[in-house]
Amino acid sequence: MDLEYLKNQWENKSTNQYQNTFSLQQKYLQFNIPWKDACIVNSSRMLQSRLNAGLHKVGRHETGLYCTCNTLQSEKHFILDCVETTELRKKYKFIYDSSKPWNFQQLLSDKGAIEQIIKYVHANNISI
Ligand SMILES: [Zn+2]
Repeated sequence: MDLEYLKNQWENKSTNQYQNTFSLQQKYLQFNIPWKDACIVNSSRMLQSRLNAGLHKVGRHETGLYCTCNTLQSEKHFILDCVETTELRKKYKFIYDSSKPWNFQQLLSDKGAIEQIIKYVHANNISI
């Protein structure tokens, strides 16, 4: 192993790290929202939130598999169906571009809807 080889290795590694970080930043900062809020959005989007169904998946929640409307509590249910989030849904229906499809993925990619969801999560102290 010569010095030139090591130098190349290091440079390649640095380049990769920069690229990784850069694409990571792009992913999280695409709506220019605080990191913590971006985490809420991203964990919901990835269906890895700490809502009941998420907790159940990792075995940390024994009884709360169903929310008060007696449905499996999941990110999709929370965003699209839950009676507890009816008020939230009104808010993002009001601002949502009606030409776009109304589904979980689209909503969690919509700046206005995301802002409402984040506000709601904070206001109601929901652990996501
Ligand atoms: Zn519900």
